[in-house]
Amino acid sequence: MNGLIPPRRVVLSLGSNVGDRMGALQGAVDGLFDAPGLDPVSLSPVYETAPVGGPEQGPFLNAVVTADTRMPADVLLERAQSVEEALGRVRDVRWGPRTLDVDIIAVEGERSDDPRLTLPHPRAHERAFVLRPWSDVDPGAEIPGRGAVRELLAGLADQELRRRDDLVLRV
Ligand code: ATP
Ligand code: CA
Ligand code: CA
Repeated sequence: MNGLIPPRRVVLSLGSNVGDRMGALQGAVDGLFDAPGLDPVSLSPVYETAPVGGPEQGPFLNAVVTADTRMPADVLLERAQSVEEALGRVRDVRWGPRTLDVDIIAVEGERSDDPRLTLPHPRAHERAFVLRPWSDVDPGAEIPGRGAVRELLAGLADQELRRRDDLVLRV
């Protein structure tokens, strides 16, 4: 595409707790990698997790995807949001139920305090549903400014998480 930005590893978190949850996660993977510019590296196992915060709502399916890209982070966010829209996400209540949520957890070498795109994701370090699947695909992962994902995860043992080996994402 261009030689200006070297390829960088990115970490994305997927979540769904409305309707066909697994269909939404697989649709997200398909949508993210359909267009050129984002090369899949790994897809995590799928976890079923109790919702954290927000109104009362059903359990989520969550997974993490890692990929390499030369896209600037804001362009990656646009792709993530267009995939959410394609899967019919209705934006109403913040932290409420959603057909699909795609968050950018980290972009290699990038830190940002911009509220439109904060990197690393400002709440990833306190969410087992992000850290557990992330450590499955990258056991040595670290969050800049926060520490090793495995150590952060050890402090979140109270968060309910069930691995769903009957559900497998594919590129
Ligand atoms: P949370 O951010 O706590 O996971 P959420 O995913 O429910 O909450 P959304 O309503 O999906 O929040 O997103 C709100 C805004 O967050 C988006 O419009 C986006 O601009 C902004 N945002 C900031 N940093 C990020 C990031 N790293 N990944 C995705 N969106 C981000
Ligand atoms: Ca989110
Ligand atoms: Ca989001």
